[in-house]
Amino acid sequence: MTRRISILGATGSVGQSTIDLIARDPDAYDVVAVTGGGNAEGLARDAIRLGAEVAVCADDGCLPVLRDALAGTGIEAATGRAALLEAAARPVDWTMSAIVGFAGLEPGLAALAAGGTLALANKESLVSAGPILLAEAERHGATVLPVDSEHSAIFQALAGEDMASVESVVVTASGGGLRDWPLERLSAATPEEAGRHPNWDMGNRITIDSASMFNKAMELIEAHELFHLDPARIEAVIHPQSLIHALVQFRDGAMMAHMGAPDMRHAIGYALHWPERRHLPVDRLNLAEVARLDFHAPDPVRYPAIPLAFEVMRGGALTGAAFNAAKEAALDHFIARAIRFTAMAPLVEEVLRRMAPRLDGDTITLDMVSETDRAARREAAQIVTERPAWI
Ligand code: NDP
Repeated sequence: MTRRISILGATGSVGQSTIDLIARDPDAYDVVAVTGGGNAEGLARDAIRLGAEVAVCADDGCLPVLRDALAGTGIEAATGRAALLEAAARPVDWTMSAIVGFAGLEPGLAALAAGGTLALANKESLVSAGPILLAEAERHGATVLPVDSEHSAIFQALAGEDMASVESVVVTASGGGLRDWPLERLSAATPEEAGRHPNWDMGNRITIDSASMFNKAMELIEAHELFHLDPARIEAVIHPQSLIHALVQFRDGAMMAHMGAPDMRHAIGYALHWPERRHLPVDRLNLAEVARLDFHAPDPVRYPAIPLAFEVMRGGALTGAAFNAAKEAALDHFIARAIRFTAMAPLVEEVLRRMAPRLDGDTITLDMVSETDRAARREAAQIVTERPAWI
């Protein structure tokens, strides 16, 4: 039986890895929607290759190129936010949520409302609005499966286990592209230098977030939301080889580690075939060649995003939304060369400090999250114009 699937963020790194897997078994899938941001030509190529029903670019300016590229194929072409949400809401069995940033939240919610399985790569939606996302899944009988490799690893280690027997989870981190730089050099790092990853081939934003470990901070919060774990039971450890993706410590002293080559197609394929395990085209590890695995605690001076993540988990219900938006804004300012690499964490911290009275509360709505997201970006822009010494 063919499965109906949609790929949100099809033109990105996770989207392309998803397409790689789907295209190996074309008869098994009916592709409904593929979406992109501004890359109309790439999206049209993928839509034609997969025989999609509809291709949508978020960027309205893409319409002429997308229409031209799809003329005569029978594939619908559309652009803009409303069209993206409409495409995401089309009923399917499985949706890949791989849009980058807060922009991925509403399309993910639209997919959940149709009741299928949401394979969630877009960690920003869990950090900003985890309780809303998970409640929406429950309301519609939909399933959320983690795609972030660390959370897929935890999910796999937990299969068949009782959460009551879990003492803690450990999320591993490579330490990013600047991990061996002397501390005093970090403030001079350029976006290009921070955008090179030692082990993983990923989109540019998440690669820079790996160098600052904001990505790991997001993942700690993601683990907190997804597995309902108290912050005291979540830990990050640097593991430069990126072969163990996460570990679960059980109360009987056993520690289950998930190992594998650093290739996103494993976590994507696991979510695609779950609850089955099927053959996947990823490298197998030769342990004699691997020979050693190293671990060390992240230095909070080098990686201030990690202690910040724990503050966020302990903060009010809107703190995650403010943190995510401030982090996205800090990254935008760094990529635009408006602030230094080492100014990103103080900028996020200052946004959270200024917004603290507005982040309290136990329950949140999508409107509150969206307003917090906008306010945090405004605060970040304001602080950058004030140019404190650390900028
Ligand atoms: P990329 O930057 O490679 O791709 C992002 C995708 O989102 C592209 O399809 C892009 O379209 C689209 N997009 C960008 N802006 C918008 C917008 N405003 N509205 C709609 N679509 C938009 O990102 P990654 O694939 O690296 O990451 C995707 C998500 O997965 C992120 O949340 C990331 O944190 C997470 N993730 C990524 C991993 C990886 O290995 N890359 C690992 C684990 C999680 P276009 O190309 O047309 O601009």
